[in-house]
Amino acid sequence: MPEIVADLLSDTLTRPTAAMREAMARAEVGDDVFGEDPTVRALEERVAGMLGHEAGLFTPTGSMANQLGLRLHVVPGREMLADQLAHVVRAELGAAAAFSGITSRTWPSEQGRLVASGPLSLVTTGVGPYQVETALVVVENTHNFGGGTVQPLGAIREVRAGTRALGVAMHLDGARLWNAHVATGVPLAEYGAEFDTVSVCLSKGLGAPVGSVLVGSAEAMAEARVWRKRYGGGMRQVGVLAAAGLHALDHHVERLADDHARARRFAQACADVAPAVVDPTAVETNIIVLDVAAAGVSARDFVAALLDRGVRAYAIGPGAVRLVWHLDVDDAGTDAAVTAATAVLSG
Ligand SMILES: *Cc1c(COP(=O)(O)O)cnc(C)c1O
Repeated sequence: MPEIVADLLSDTLTRPTAAMREAMARAEVGDDVFGEDPTVRALEERVAGMLGHEAGLFTPTGSMANQLGLRLHVVPGREMLADQLAHVVRAELGAAAAFSGITSRTWPSEQGRLVASGPLSLVTTGVGPYQVETALVVVENTHNFGGGTVQPLGAIREVRAGTRALGVAMHLDGARLWNAHVATGVPLAEYGAEFDTVSVCLSKGLGAPVGSVLVGSAEAMAEARVWRKRYGGGMRQVGVLAAAGLHALDHHVERLADDHARARRFAQACADVAPAVVDPTAVETNIIVLDVAAAGVSARDFVAALLDRGVRAYAIGPGAVRLVWHLDVDDAGTDAAVTAATAVLSG
């Protein structure tokens, strides 16, 4: 196998930087199950504050943060609504049903983009013992499988206005909310204000080795803390991990703009040789989905040809390939990806 010069498989691949490792080594720690890890508490308070919520809860994964959030709002036998490409319905292996007895319905979307009529046309309440009652709407921002799509604040607010009166809660899967914030300049707390709970990942483009945070009311987080322990997610001296998250918040948020610029440059270069595979003006953040089928190439062949040239990408469908920019892909790596992709597309 050739040496990998640009690994665009996922932004989960980032390795902790030397400075991050130093911050981890210096971290003060304690037993977090007893609430005695000062670094974990500092991270939870900081993220809650950034999102305008009362309290936070550190979790090992984004899936656990989402699943704790979902179960806070939905009792067994009720339903959550999400879009058809959402991580909570496609990539968490049925956890909402398996752990919490939650049924799901999905609305169709283009590139995962939220249109208020999607969830609002499905919301069902006050139907007695005849139909499933909707308890929760889940929004993903940015949208992963949609291609890094930023959700319009106006649409989010419209859904909030339409569901609040019905007593339907809202959860934000904000694994990449940092990217949406940097791309739009919308303050994190403005997004946070529209949701009852929000999950964010520290282990994607922010570059921490592990960790997510769920935020919400103090009461909700106290309940989530009990369920986290029940799920086997009560951790001990994990201030070393929280320190990586705090370091990422200090040093790796604003630089996400570099990832967005590199992704757009790559998309533009691909569009120059094969206009049908990607619309560079639609690239909003760090994720690109190429419609390689439009250039007469299968996703499998495209991924193999890139790999021969030292570039790793992910086939997300028979004719679609996802590429993700992050902390460990620089301008030289982007150049290598451009050279490889344009060679294959003009093949
Ligand atoms: C990565 C991701 C998560 C969490 O994934 P884990 O692998 O469990 O940390 C949740 N939502 C979205 C949209 C993601 O991309």
